[in-house]
Order: sequence, then structure tokens, then C-alpha cells
Amino acid sequence: MTDLRKQTTTSGLQGVLKTLGTMTAIRDTYLVEQSLLRTLGPLLGVLETSLYRVDDNGGILRSLNYSRMVVTEGSGTHRVKERVEEVTNDRNIPKDVMELLDSVRMLGKPSSRKVGNDWLICYPLRGGGVLRGFFVFQRDCGTTPVEDSIINGTLDVFSNYYELLDTSQRDQLTGLFNRYSLEINLDRLWNLLSAQMREKASNHEDSQRTEIPHTFWLGVIDVDHFKKINDTYGHIIGDEVLIMVSRLLERSFRQSDLLYRYGGEEFIAIIAANDLDAATRAFDRARDTLAQFEFPQVGHVTISIGFSGADPSVLPQEVISRADSSLYAAKNAGRNRVCHYDTLVKEGVLKEVASGSIDLF
Ligand code: GH3
Ligand code: MG
Ligand code: MG
Repeated sequence: MTDLRKQTTTSGLQGVLKTLGTMTAIRDTYLVEQSLLRTLGPLLGVLETSLYRVDDNGGILRSLNYSRMVVTEGSGTHRVKERVEEVTNDRNIPKDVMELLDSVRMLGKPSSRKVGNDWLICYPLRGGGVLRGFFVFQRDCGTTPVEDSIINGTLDVFSNYYELLDTSQRDQLTGLFNRYSLEINLDRLWNLLSAQMREKASNHEDSQRTEIPHTFWLGVIDVDHFKKINDTYGHIIGDEVLIMVSRLLERSFRQSDLLYRYGGEEFIAIIAANDLDAATRAFDRARDTLAQFEFPQVGHVTISIGFSGADPSVLPQEVISRADSSLYAAKNAGRNRVCHYDTLVKEGVLKEVASGSIDLF
């Protein structure tokens, strides 16, 4: 987390959002990863094991290091002490390990290299036919054929389970994260955002509490007159439109932004932007990308967007509800447009409702 806290520039913030998103999306898998390392370490008779996860582009997303120590207490009794450390960037990965990961990636099979008197051993971790990460440990001898099959078998079970957990958080039609994923992770995401805000505030000593700008924004996106598309062209073409809308939205937002399929033809995007202008531009770019696209058979399809600052001092469900009421205002105003909650309140289009808030400071 210390590295996350240092990032205060715009690009840093975007990176943070992606990291937060990934960390929250894999909440359950994190526990499974820990138990994998906890199982394999003692089996192989080593005190330290590591797991490296790669992202879609093959870059190291984060690593998990597990170590055991036998400590002797004052009374002379021995106790095993465990430590799990999660690192979210690849700067701290030793050069030896980095080179070994590269060869495993190229060879597509386990590999090892000599480090002093020890062997550094690495196994690829696959899921759904693609490389998902690496399992690494070090010891004074190579693996026996029996150990080799134990490691491979354990990694296979782990990969299958991991895929299963990932699948439950993905929408089957579009491959985006689903509503379940957003809902089970919303509180954790909010806690992380609020830690970011506190850090930002303490870095600007003279900034008043009320002057801290929103840096994250939540938009509810809804396809206009989608029912008509289904009614005119059928459900299968409707599904194809939804898949294409997802790809266009993904392409329009930054890779670091978070996109969920929230319901039938409804999506939620959480994006990083320094101010209201930048956020408005980002959502309007998405709207425009959709409006310009020529869908096969169907022609033009538009979307409406309502958005609100993802203020961590406001309950997340309330932020969604603000974005949602702004979406309805966008629909009422004629569709194919973007509306911002605070602006609508200022203009008197929407009435601010007293809502649950979280005390940030
Ligand atoms: P508005 O502009 O007000 O949003 O109008 P709309 O027609 O888009 O909204 P409405 O909520 O009336 O209709 C949404 C439709 O989306 C109804 C539902 O059958 C359809 N739908 C929901 N999920 C799916 C899906 O997975 N595939 C397809 N093809 N259609 C879906
Ligand atoms: Mg709609
Ligand atoms: Mg809808």
C-alpha cells in the first residue's frame, strides 16, 4: 500500500484505480492464493514461496510472498511464524527472478536456474489456456519427478478454482465484470478510495475539506430505446449489439477505468479524472463514440449517461442512486446525452435528498 500512497499525479491516480479494481475483483482469489502457498511451502520443505500474477498484457500485476520462520520463545518453546506480503508493482522483484519468469514465459514450461548454492525454481500458472502467473521457490536441490507431479497437480486444481471464482464475477455475454462483482466489492473499493482521498488531503496542507476535488466519478450508462432493437431485429441481434457496446465503451474509457455490466442494457463505469470538465469529456467521448458507430444491420445506437462524483464520504449506494437519477434526467431531456448530478441539482432539475454519509475525517 505504501507505493499506492505515493501516487498523486493524474497518471498515478489512473494506475491506482486499476490496481484498486483488480484488488477488489480478486477478493476471494487472494485467500485461495495464500492457501496455495501455505500448502506447497511445507510440502516442498521450503520456508519461502511466491506467486506472481500477470495482467492481460503479460506484465506483472502483483506478487504474493509467503514465508515461515521457526522462532524460539523465551521459555524455550518453538513456534512457527507466518508472514504474507503482497506487492503491487514489479520494481521490487529481484533480477534473477525476473529473468527466470521471462524464460518460463518463453519456454511455456517449468524452468530453474542456479543462484549461489541454491536452485531458483519456477512453474507457470495457466488458466483458460493462457498464462496467468508463476509459482516460484528456492531450495538447495531440484525437484524429484514425484514433487513435480504434486506441484503440477496442485497448480491445476488451483487454476480451475481460480477460473471458477473469476467466472462468477464476470458477465457471460460481454465478459465484463458483473453486478455481483460490483456489489460484493463496492464497500472495499470505497474504503480504498477514501484512503486515497485522505492521503491526497494530507498532501495539500492548505486545502480545505470542502475544496478537495472529486477524483473518481461513477457513471450509469443505459442504451437508448434498446427494447425497440430487440423488437425489430430479434434478441440475438440485440445480444450482439450489447457485446459491441461493451467493446466500444471499453475502448472509449481508459484501460485503467472500471467497467461493469450492471443490468440488461445498463453499465456502470468508475473513472479517474481530475475535475468535472475532464470527467464530462470522458463520458461525452463514450457517448459520441457510440453515436458515431455504424452497427451491422441496426445502424445507429445511442446511449445516455448520468454521473456523479464517486465521493467516498457518501455511501456508494447513494452515489449510484445519484448517477441513476441523473440518467433519468438525461432520458427525459431527449436521450443521447450526458448529465451530471450536482449540475442538475444546481439547475433545480433534481432535488438533493438527505442521504446517509460517511464521516471521512
Ligand atoms: P430507454 O431509452 O428508456 O432506456 O428505453 P429501453 O427500451 O432501452 O428500456 P427498457 O428498460 O424499456 O428496455 C430494456 C430492454 O432490454 C428490455 C429487455 O428485454 C432488454 N434486455 C435486457 N437484457 C437483455 C439481454 O441480455 N439481451 C437482449 N437482447 N436484450 C436484453
Ligand atoms: Mg435503455
Ligand atoms: Mg435500462
